[in-house]
Amino acid sequence: MTSFDLARSEQELLLQQTISALLDWYEKGDEAPLGTIWPHEQIQAAVASFTYKNPTPAGPALQSLIRSLKDFTIHTTNSNYFGLFNPRANFPSILADIITAFFNPQLAAWSHAPYAAEIERNLILQCCSRFGYATGSQDGTFTSGGAESNMTAIICALHHQFPNYGQEGLFGLQQRPVIYCSAESHHSLLKAARSVGLGAQVLQVIPCDQQERMDMQQLKQRLILDEAEGKRPIMIVGTAGTTGSGAIDDLDTIAAICQVHNCWFHVDAAYGGALMLSSLYRRHLNGIEKSNSITMDIHKWFSVPMGISLFLTSNTEILHRSFDVSTAYMPEKGESKKEIDPYVHSLQWSRRFMGLKMHVPLLLFGWQGYEEVIHHQIKQGQLLQKSLEEAGWIIKNHSHLPILCFTHPSLEQTPARVQEIVDDIVIKGQAWISTYPIKGQPCIRACITNYNTGPKEVQKLVDLLSTHI
Ligand SMILES: *Cc1c(COP(=O)(O)O)cnc(C)c1O
Repeated sequence: MTSFDLARSEQELLLQQTISALLDWYEKGDEAPLGTIWPHEQIQAAVASFTYKNPTPAGPALQSLIRSLKDFTIHTTNSNYFGLFNPRANFPSILADIITAFFNPQLAAWSHAPYAAEIERNLILQCCSRFGYATGSQDGTFTSGGAESNMTAIICALHHQFPNYGQEGLFGLQQRPVIYCSAESHHSLLKAARSVGLGAQVLQVIPCDQQERMDMQQLKQRLILDEAEGKRPIMIVGTAGTTGSGAIDDLDTIAAICQVHNCWFHVDAAYGGALMLSSLYRRHLNGIEKSNSITMDIHKWFSVPMGISLFLTSNTEILHRSFDVSTAYMPEKGESKKEIDPYVHSLQWSRRFMGLKMHVPLLLFGWQGYEEVIHHQIKQGQLLQKSLEEAGWIIKNHSHLPILCFTHPSLEQTPARVQEIVDDIVIKGQAWISTYPIKGQPCIRACITNYNTGPKEVQKLVDLLSTHI
């Protein structure tokens, strides 16, 4: 036996001490400062002593680590965090991640982790159904995040549009491909375009209308122009919940345009996709059922630890065509062909049982529990809007999601004040908010990201903001 396995008694003691320190922080997250803006040198100096030359006693090392993370982290667990979709992880999902780490199942091959693989498969199929993909037209894969999901979408679109792409790659293309997205779409599309060898210029960025949605007229005109120039439109990406202002593109119209121009229809619903959990608000995603694929992050509105997103598709062949390989060193694939080896279905190979942190909270709360939380958060967004307006602020964005971009008449002449106000609040650790421009005008951005944010925190934010006016 090597020293890697500590004695059982020490394991229990360390677990207990660690969990106890973490629970203190998790429970009382709002009492500790939310975080601030740290100088790089200070943080660098704090870790410079780790040379790893000599072993360190475990207990003090772990306690010190937890203290440092408490001191030097923006606590998205804090209910005054009105930030960038980074959630407070709910307790069952944290437990699930611990269980995953213990078993460390290998999710590359079905035969190594059949129960885990089927749990993921079941979640994929259920989510496909919720988005309106018909039985028999449902497939997907778990990914590390929205960036990987969006890149998977581009790879699938290329394989779909160019049957020889898998063999010849971009060298085999006769026409220059074009991918369409809005000016408010996520920049992970840009990274993906560069990474697959298409280059940034493959993206035809369509301006937005007055409500921050992709302008449908301009999209149609651009498609016709590009086709006339001999280019090949291959894909249109609609965004359901833009990162800046929470706009949802007109998915129904994009679906129809995709039909006409023979384009792959991808919906980037990294954040807004969670609306499918709500019987009241699902209608804002109308048209998503006609898409060829969907990105939906689980580590955003599902409130679970980072590192989990879903790529869903209504094309049951495409993941296989895009990612299938076979090699002698991998376990043989199942004879029945019914089981799917995740590694021939996605970019990743060896990977974590990430689906468990979605499965366990769903098991404990059900879809209905999730729906209640989504409704609570939307309600807090509506409350924030009302309170801001009563205090004289003007909402500039148009969103069905709990995201508000706003300014104040007294700031119109001094737009630089917007950033100063936000910095002052963030540096003091009173709340976390950010800035985002709407139609070129600097605005303060606040999003109900944390499921514990309630009327108390909403009022506190409005009061804080008002002291700066
Ligand atoms: C967050 C986000 C992404 C990127 O997802 P990650 O999980 O951060 O990789 C993509 N698209 C949209 C609309 C997003 O909000």
